[in-house]
Amino acid sequence: MKENICTIPVNEVFEVNDGCPICRMRNLIESKYVDYITGPAMMEPDIRIETNRLGFCERHYSMMLTAGRARLPVALTLESHMIDIREKLLAKKPDKKMLEAMKELEESCFVCNYIEPHLARAIETVCLSYKNEPEFRRLYESQPYICMTHYRMIVQNAKKPLGKDYDSFVEATRKLVSRYADSLQDNITTFRDAFDYRNAGNPVPQEARNCIERTIEFLTSRPAVTKQNNSEAPAGGSNQ
Ligand SMILES: [Zn+2]
Ligand SMILES: [Zn+2]
Repeated sequence: MKENICTIPVNEVFEVNDGCPICRMRNLIESKYVDYITGPAMMEPDIRIETNRLGFCERHYSMMLTAGRARLPVALTLESHMIDIREKLLAKKPDKKMLEAMKELEESCFVCNYIEPHLARAIETVCLSYKNEPEFRRLYESQPYICMTHYRMIVQNAKKPLGKDYDSFVEATRKLVSRYADSLQDNITTFRDAFDYRNAGNPVPQEARNCIERTIEFLTSRPAVTKQNNSEAPAGGSNQ
């Protein structure tokens, strides 16, 4: 049941030409699971057993507390998760097994646990559409880029659905990724050069202003959180 809580409208996702399309699919899956776990699902005993065992990562706890979502389901989930932790990890002197369990708990998350397999299936659908629909192939190849995390996932998951078309698909994807990486690298160099004393007083060129944020998003698949004004003029001669 919970593995089918959302069907990804692959064509619709790819029609939006902004950023990495697989990140957009991941965001859809992620918000569906967070909605799911802050809704009636958290009352289901088998779900509760899983959330007790896995807990959530910081990112997904934060999403569960996003404005508009009810706080009571989060409190109830936490209540039984805490009972579980106190019984299993805090009731006696920690031994090796308990330390291992603590480490596992730090690294596990109910939502993260479902994202990757669900996204892998959505990527299989992308591969089949690429193989069978020339129109979708054009849509795929006209994406601005694929981020590094999802390039890895595509390469890992495309073999089975694509068969003999695997090599050409991976090559088309690699071109999409490396073309964007080249442009990021150029923008970073332009940004760096803007701080050279010879360019003192000149503003950072438009295309390089947010290159740091765009590179971080390309590398991590998540938007960079920054409070700095990214359009600041270089001081000139500074190497910060
Ligand atoms: Zn991505
Ligand atoms: Zn998570």
